[in-house]
Amino acid sequence: MAASAPVDIRDWIRDIPDFPKPGILFKDITPLLGHPEAFQASIDRLEAEYAGKGIDVIAAAEARGFIFGAPLALRIGAGFVPIRKPGKLPYATIAQEYALEYGNDRLEVHSDALGPGKKVLLIDDVLATGGTMCACRDLVKSTGADLVACAFVIELSFLGGRPKLEPCDVFSLITY
Ligand code: AMP
Repeated sequence: MAASAPVDIRDWIRDIPDFPKPGILFKDITPLLGHPEAFQASIDRLEAEYAGKGIDVIAAAEARGFIFGAPLALRIGAGFVPIRKPGKLPYATIAQEYALEYGNDRLEVHSDALGPGKKVLLIDDVLATGGTMCACRDLVKSTGADLVACAFVIELSFLGGRPKLEPCDVFSLITY
């Protein structure tokens, strides 16, 4: 019997025009998450990239970063560290402010979660303008941890996030 064709995870990303506001083409990952072979293929490809690289911790910002970060952490034998919006983490935190289109926002991580000697991989579902991941990068670096790479399922290259993350290594499964 012939082997079935490998799943193309691109087929499981749905475009939603004008969400959450006019002019934004939202990349909806929920079809991928709902299709076990596609979801597994995305984690397989991330595992192939990062297994055996000595990564101690995967850190990810809420909420969609958690969806890919936690299963990948289990696959590669790393811990998982949540990066959260203000006031959500119960223990002492360190914070990073970042600029939004209008105003500022803030991300927090537990003060004992990262630090010198820890090799960290950051992950998120989508790299758009890069603002969120730049804040995560700055947060990780402020702890003295060693940031190995920033990984994404989807990169919207026309929004220019990748150059903002340089010289950090950037990896994405799908680029538009
Ligand atoms: P940015 O900070 O601009 O790189 O935006 C990154 C965050 O916003 C990611 O965590 C994504 O989940 C979300 N995001 C931004 N743009 C999109 C888009 N077009 N489709 C889906 N999610 C997006």
